[in-house]
Amino acid sequence: MTLLFEPQPPVLAKTSAGDEFPVRRVFCVGRNYAEHAREMGKDPDRDPPFFFTKWSETVVPSGEPIAYPPSTSNYHYEAELVVAIGKGGRNIAEENALDHVYGYATGLDMTRRDLQFEARDKGRPWDTGKNFEQAAPLGLIHPVSEVGHVAKAAIALTVNGETRQSADVADLIWAVDEIISILSRFYRLEPGDIIYTGTPAGVGPVVAGDEIVVTIAGLTPTVTKITPAATS
Ligand code: MN
Repeated sequence: MTLLFEPQPPVLAKTSAGDEFPVRRVFCVGRNYAEHAREMGKDPDRDPPFFFTKWSETVVPSGEPIAYPPSTSNYHYEAELVVAIGKGGRNIAEENALDHVYGYATGLDMTRRDLQFEARDKGRPWDTGKNFEQAAPLGLIHPVSEVGHVAKAAIALTVNGETRQSADVADLIWAVDEIISILSRFYRLEPGDIIYTGTPAGVGPVVAGDEIVVTIAGLTPTVTKITPAATS
């Protein structure tokens, strides 16, 4: 038998301790801050959270530039708290959910907003709006043993030094323990899974040349620069 081509190597996220965290799957929570739900034209009720996914290969380490993606003219940032799962499980009870967290990071859920809205309005999947190359920049993962659980912390995003998003992760509609518990009813969570927990209000477009910085108090920022669209 012949191996026809080299398989894609695993995506290895870095931790603040200098370790490598193999990324398995990327889950994302939609509309998880009330103000952001309103700016998307939706009612921020406590309907159950909903999820979408990205390929693990969309994860890009902080510091690496990302190319303006094709087939969009409305490319948006979304600053998010990211949860890294260290211990798997199915039907995880809320009271045990935080035991499954390895650590926390800052991250960006980059979005082709025009494609997402078109899909949303036509009742189609969000994949082309959310899941594309370099769509998930990720900062260093800080282990719980270092930073504890991140329940209340200022979250902010700047573009070229100007603040565009500013909130607190305490304002998440669905907190981290609830997200893990509910997500684990749909999927058996596995070590290496990461969860983007949703973005606060203030999302907006970026263009080539812009620099985005995501900060969450106590964590290492995610920094990335948008470069011109790839041509090959
Ligand atoms: Mn998001």
